[in-house]
Amino acid sequence: MEGQMLEQTDVLIVGAGPAGLATAIGLAQHGVGFQIVDAASEGQNTSRAAVIHAATLETLSRLGVADALLAQGIKVPHFRVRDRGRVILEIEFTRLAGLFPFALMIPQEETEAILTARLQSLGHSVQRPLRLMSVEQKDDGAITQFADGRTTRARFVVGADGEKSSVRAAANISFPGDTYGSFLLADVRMSWPLPRNEVGLFFAQEGTLVVAPLSASRVRIVAQLADAPSQPTVSDVQRVLDARGPGGRIVVEEVVWGSRFQVHHKLADRFRDGPFLLVGDAAHVHSPAGGQGMNLGLRDAEALADALTRELAGTQGQLDLYASTRRKSAAQVLSRTDRLTRLATVRGRFARSARNTLIRSLGASSAVRDTIAKMLAGYG
Ligand SMILES: Cc1cc2nc3c(=O)[nH]c(=O)nc-3n(C[C@H](O)[C@H](O)[C@H](O)COP(=O)(O)OP(=O)(O)OC[C@H]3O[C@@H](n4cnc5c(N)ncnc54)[C@H](O)[C@@H]3O)c2cc1C
Repeated sequence: MEGQMLEQTDVLIVGAGPAGLATAIGLAQHGVGFQIVDAASEGQNTSRAAVIHAATLETLSRLGVADALLAQGIKVPHFRVRDRGRVILEIEFTRLAGLFPFALMIPQEETEAILTARLQSLGHSVQRPLRLMSVEQKDDGAITQFADGRTTRARFVVGADGEKSSVRAAANISFPGDTYGSFLLADVRMSWPLPRNEVGLFFAQEGTLVVAPLSASRVRIVAQLADAPSQPTVSDVQRVLDARGPGGRIVVEEVVWGSRFQVHHKLADRFRDGPFLLVGDAAHVHSPAGGQGMNLGLRDAEALADALTRELAGTQGQLDLYASTRRKSAAQVLSRTDRLTRLATVRGRFARSARNTLIRSLGASSAVRDTIAKMLAGYG
């Protein structure tokens, strides 16, 4: 391979989204040598994943960023499932036994800014814009080539480069799965008849709707919608809320940020191939039901940083263990979000009524409600 030789490193992290940044922080805290690169000249700076669950907050606490996140986010203790206006299941995160008995609502760009600042405080920064063009396994590691012609040698290459991962492709790891269609996403200012201290999931004939507080004045709307508009307007969001929400006085005043989210449901065949390791969306993508995507990636990242640290220190088998345990967790989340999405979108009056009765009778048991709270929060 021609080109200027960049320095060698133990670990090259490709991608500085939440998963790459968290892996880098974990390695920096353990004193492991690494480089982190990203193709974009700056972070995406958009709202996207808006919820951080309790188990992830424990991870982020160990990575030194929980206090900063808690200072900026909104703590939400309640999760309620409704069929239009009628509550059919009520989950209390307050009953969680851990340190963080709530879900934390915070836009993704704020989470990424806090992770970036933490990495800088540990003496590291992301090299950007620097696009990985090719990577091949060589001897005891891999040789990578970047868009500016530089090359580098790394013992391990972490693919934190998102759903279309080049590292995954170079490692010949397949990424099978399906597509669910599109979701409308919008952060809005609005008048709304229900309390602002809950995340609400609404089942309706037209499809699902999630409404969650994002700041004192902003509310996140997520709705499964065929042909969702790429830039939803006030009337697009108003229509969805009128058709699927609880009824009562709902007035959308402004769409602060909006987007369309194409949802795929895919799991990498394996999370490791020789020197190549996958983390975050490069390894798994799924429906936003339950808000698990970024959470799973952040927990992968901590596990991977710990495994790389131990493996580089001479303990064999750590990376294979990372790959098998995190793939199992991801498979479990994918299967649950798939079931939840199908349950939420059943059609027909009889089927919907049978579903609601089943959910209400299961939800009558506090043990069942606590199990659901733990699953949503990322504990199992
Ligand atoms: C519009 C939208 C809305 C979303 N809403 C939600 C939501 O409500 N809830 C939820 O849980 N999730 C949501 N997600 C998904 C969530 O944003 C992702 O799960 C999360 O960003 C994944 O983090 P990651 O670090 O694994 O990958 P990413 O955030 O995708 O980061 C990958 C990084 O790799 C870089 N990169 C890619 N290729 C290369 C290369 N060849 N060389 C160098 N760098 C490279 C990219 O520039 C990027 O910065 C949404 C996503 C989108 C797009």
